[in-house]
Amino acid sequence: MRVNYMILPFLLLFFSHASIADWAKKRASIMGTEVAVEVWHEDSAKAASAVDSVMQEMQRVDHLMSTHKETSALAKINRLASAGPVKVGAELFGLIDKSLKCSEKTHGAFDITYASVGYLYDYRHASRPQQSEVESALQAVDYRLISLDADKQTVTFKREGMRIDLGGIAKGYAVDQSIKILARQGIRHARVTAGGDTRVLGSRLGRPWTVGVRHPRASKKMVAVIPLMDEAISTSGDYERYFDESGIRYHHIINPETGDSAREVRSVSIIGPKAVMTDALSTSVFVLGVESGLELINSMDDYEAIIVDKSGSLHYSTGLEQFQSANEPEGSHNNLIPSLLASVN
Ligand code: AMP
Ligand code: MG
Repeated sequence: MRVNYMILPFLLLFFSHASIADWAKKRASIMGTEVAVEVWHEDSAKAASAVDSVMQEMQRVDHLMSTHKETSALAKINRLASAGPVKVGAELFGLIDKSLKCSEKTHGAFDITYASVGYLYDYRHASRPQQSEVESALQAVDYRLISLDADKQTVTFKREGMRIDLGGIAKGYAVDQSIKILARQGIRHARVTAGGDTRVLGSRLGRPWTVGVRHPRASKKMVAVIPLMDEAISTSGDYERYFDESGIRYHHIINPETGDSAREVRSVSIIGPKAVMTDALSTSVFVLGVESGLELINSMDDYEAIIVDKSGSLHYSTGLEQFQSANEPEGSHNNLIPSLLASVN
C-alpha cells in the first residue's frame, strides 16, 4: 500500500484547502450602482456559480424595473398608464403594491410618484427645474393617484403626466431575491450589496459580518461599523447623487410635498430582517426627518435606525440606544455599535 501513503499528504492538502476554500467574490455595475457579492462554500465551483446566479438575478430585476431602459415593464407603465389600465406581471405588481403600503405607513413620505417631479432633476449635469415647473409637476405626485386592480393585475394612473420610479425600493428587493437564491443553493455564508443596500446570510465563517456606515461628508471615514448576521442594512445619503448650487445641495431624495430635495438629514441607515423594507424605510426616514422618522422606526419591532441630521449629530432608534448604553465602557471607542460616536461634525 505504498501508493496510498504517497498520496496522503496530497489528500490532506486537498481537504485543508477545501475547509479554508476562498471566498468567491464579484463586483459589477448593475441598476445604476455597484453590486458586490461574496459567497463561501466548501466547493469553490459551487460558490462561483452561486455568485454568477446573483448577478443574473440583479440583471433580471433591472430589466424589469429600470426607468432608464425603454424596454422595461416599468417604462411601459410610465408610457401608457395615464391613458388606461396596463397589465403587469405578478412580481412588478407586487412591488408596486408594497410601495403603496409603504406610502400609507409613512403618510406619503415614501411615494413612487415622486418621479413625476423627480425626472426634472439632472444631477449629473447640475440642472434643476424652475419653481413654476416644480409646482405644476407636483399635481401628478400622489400615490393615491395610482390605481391597482389585483384581479386583472393592472396599473392605471388617474392623472396626466404621472410617472413612477422604484429607485427607493428595487435594490433592496433585488438583494432579498439574491439571498433567497443563495439559500436555495445551499449557501450559508454570503454578503450581497447593491449600492447602499446590503443583506448578509449567516456569519462570516463564525464571526459577524461588519458593515460600515460612512460619514456623510467624508467618504473615507465611518460613523459606525455594525456587526450583522442574517440581517439587512440600507443607507440613504445626500452624497450619493447631487450637485451644490449657491451653498444648497440638490440631491436624489425628494420630499413629495415640496418637490425639492429632503433637507432635514444627511444620512439614514436602517437595520432589519428584509432588505426590501430597510431600503424603502431608509428613503422614507430621510424624508420624514429625525422626529417622525424615529417615531416610525420605534413603532416597528424588527427595525432600527441611525440618523445623521443636517447639523451632523447622530440619533438612534430605541433598540440601539439601549444596546449602546448597556455596552459602552466609559471613555472607550471600539468601533462597533456600543461606541457609536455622538456627533460626526
Ligand atoms: P435610496 O437609494 O434607497 O437612498 O433611495 C433613493 C432613490 O429613491 C432615489 O434615487 C429615487 O429613485 C427614489 N426616491 C427619491 N425620493 C423618493 C421618495 N420620496 N419616495 C420614494 N422613492 C424616492
Ligand atoms: Mg432606500
